Amino acid sequence: MRQFVYHGLPSRVVFGPGSVKKLPEEVGRLGARRVLLLSTPGRAAMVRGLAATLPVAGAFDRVVMHTPVEIVNQARELARELKADCCVAVGGGSTIGFGKAIALSAGLPVIAVPTTYSGSEMTTIWGISENNAKKTGRDPKVLPRAVIYDPELTLDLPAAVSAASGMNAVAHCVEALYAHDGNPIVSLMAEEGIRALSKALPSIVREPKDLESRSDALYGAWLAGATISTTGSALHHKLCHVLGGFGLPHAQTHAIVLPHAVRYNYESAPEAMRAVERSMGVPAAAPGIFDLERRLGLPSALADVGMKEADLERAARIAAEAPYPNPRKVEYAPVLELLRDAYAGRRPS
Ligand code: NAD
Repeated sequence: MRQFVYHGLPSRVVFGPGSVKKLPEEVGRLGARRVLLLSTPGRAAMVRGLAATLPVAGAFDRVVMHTPVEIVNQARELARELKADCCVAVGGGSTIGFGKAIALSAGLPVIAVPTTYSGSEMTTIWGISENNAKKTGRDPKVLPRAVIYDPELTLDLPAAVSAASGMNAVAHCVEALYAHDGNPIVSLMAEEGIRALSKALPSIVREPKDLESRSDALYGAWLAGATISTTGSALHHKLCHVLGGFGLPHAQTHAIVLPHAVRYNYESAPEAMRAVERSMGVPAAAPGIFDLERRLGLPSALADVGMKEADLERAARIAAEAPYPNPRKVEYAPVLELLRDAYAGRRPS
C-alpha cells in the first residue's frame, strides 16, 4: 500500500526558446531596481548582452567552481557596495551556487538562468568550500524566485560537457526513484526526466546545435532538479561526494559511478529499476545506462578522471562509515567492489 509525504516547493519556471527575453519582466515582478549579474568569465559576454534590457547595478564575472568562500565574499561585498536588490545568475551549477551563497547570508532574491543541466536552480541546497572542504545545507532562502530555461542559451555548451552534465541529471532522477522519502509526484517527474534526457543526449552529441534536442534535455534537467529538491540522496550521490574529496571532476564522476550504483541497488529497488528500464527502453537498467554513456563518448573508468587505485579502499571506508538511507545496506566490502568496477570501467552485468 502507498504511504508517503509530499512536500512541494514554491517555484516559478519560464521555459522555451527565446524565454530569456522575459528576464526584465521577471526582475519587475520582484520589484527589483538594482540587479547584480553573476557569471563565469566564459559566460560574461553572453551576460553583457542581457544587461541592456535590465536595471543593472553591476556585474560579477569571476565565478569559479565549488563556491570558494573567499570569492563568494568578494561577490557579496560587491552586492553590498552596489546596493543590489536582486542577483541574476546566468550559467551552470557553479554560477547558480554563487547566487545561492549570496542569498544565504545577504538575503538577496535570485533569478536563475541555467545554461547546463545541473538542476541546482530548483533546489534549496547550498554549498560553500572552505579549507578544501565543502559545507552544504538546505535553506528555503536560497531557492531562486524564478528560473528561466532558454534552450537557445545552451547551444554552445560543448558536447562532452552536455553529456556529463546530462547524465548527472539522469542520476538525480534515478536516486529520486528509490529515495527513502520519495513520493508518486517525484517518481513521475523522475521517470519523465530520464526519458527526455536519454533520448536527447545522443542527438546533442551528434548535433550540438539541434534546438529541439537542447529543449528536451533542458526540460529533463528541470524535472531532474525538481526531483532532488524534495528527496534525499542515496549511495550514488554520497559516493560521488566522497570521490569529489579526492579531486575528481563533478559531472563526469557522477556519470561513471551511476551504472555501478544502480547495479548495487538493483535487487533492492525493483520498482525504481522497472521505471528506469521503461523510461530508457532497455532490458536492464545498469548495463543500459553504461551503454548509453559509451554512446555519449563519456569516460567509463574512474582511473581515466584522476582516481588513484591506492585510494579506493579509503574512499570505500569513508562511504561505508557514515550511515545513510539507501535501498541496500551500504557496507565496506560491496562498496569497495563497486568502486573497483568503476575504477576499471567494467560493464555491470
Ligand atoms: P559549471 O557550472 O561549473 O559549468 C561547467 C562548465 O561549462 C563551465 O566551464 C562553464 O563556464 C561552462 N558553461 C556553462 N554554460 C555554458 C554554455 N551555455 N555554453 C558553453 N559553456 C558553458 O558545472 P555544472 O555541472 O553546471 O555545475 C556543477 C556544480 O553545481 C557543482 O559545484 C555542484 O556541486 C553544483 N550543483 C549543486 C546542486 C544544488 O542543488 N545545490 C545541484 C547540482 C549541482
